[in-house]
Amino acid sequence: MSVAFHGAEFCWMNGETVETKKALVSAMEPIHLGIFEGIKAYVENDVNGSGRLSIFQWKPHVDRLRRSAAVCGLKIPFTSEELLEATRKTIRANGFNTNIYIQPRIWPRAGASEEVHVVIPIWTFETVLGKDNPRFSKNRKFMISTWRRIASDALPAQVKTWANYGNSALAMREAERLGYDGAIFLDNRGLVSEGTGACIMAVRNGKVMTPPVTASILESITRETLLSIMPEDLGIPVEVKDIARVELYSSDEAFLCGTGWEITPITSIDGLSLGKEYPGPLTRRIAECYADIIAGKVEKHKEWLTQT
Ligand code: PMP
Repeated sequence: MSVAFHGAEFCWMNGETVETKKALVSAMEPIHLGIFEGIKAYVENDVNGSGRLSIFQWKPHVDRLRRSAAVCGLKIPFTSEELLEATRKTIRANGFNTNIYIQPRIWPRAGASEEVHVVIPIWTFETVLGKDNPRFSKNRKFMISTWRRIASDALPAQVKTWANYGNSALAMREAERLGYDGAIFLDNRGLVSEGTGACIMAVRNGKVMTPPVTASILESITRETLLSIMPEDLGIPVEVKDIARVELYSSDEAFLCGTGWEITPITSIDGLSLGKEYPGPLTRRIAECYADIIAGKVEKHKEWLTQT
């Protein structure tokens, strides 16, 4: 990923705040069917300059964690309110007043498929968002991965289980080995799926298109957020549709969207430059609007922010 992450001193584990370096489990624990979430909290920079740290889209993230648990047959022994309180406690323990990435992780304990470990580690990170941020406008060369996205009748691509991320890691490693900044998957039908940890959107003739959930993509919260703000707040037409590889090559702009990658423009795919301008004008507008929303500057979307 193009953003730098730094681990925090304290995390939360099975009901207690502990030093992250002491949050240990046995080497005998099973590792294949854990689930997790990736959530961000941003410092609000609203008109009152409140400087509060607020979690973006808490409820959809916890709802998806529960869907992931249901699909993988795990029971989460904490209510959503308890997980929120645990997250708040961990933020306070670390004394954070900076943008953070929160990754609740749940996995079965050895020999007891019903019982789980619940850990909430936190990282600080550097955002790609913000006007004139060089991280945003940096050139990014992507490739179409030779690895296909996992078919969702083999692994549940729509939810967040670690099992899916071996697929992402193979594609990312291949891309790095070949000198690219990232990879885009095709699904098992040969149609565009998503990135290695983010969804993809492409712009053609002033319209944004993105693949449907049936293209083996994660049910992304950022994608859902953008699908609502693009037409309603920005007047940009959007279409959820299957996308052929050639449509990506001939798009005017393309960008990744996700909690981790935020809104990350793509310069070229397989060596073919996209459009005339980089980052493209719609990508910039969408990223600016998204940055304002997460900073609490857009009154009508403040319900997407949960105070810590
Ligand atoms: N696809 C994959 C495979 C991901 O890991 C992520 C990051 N969670 C996304 C898409 C984007 O999802 P979200 O917007 O909910 O972060």
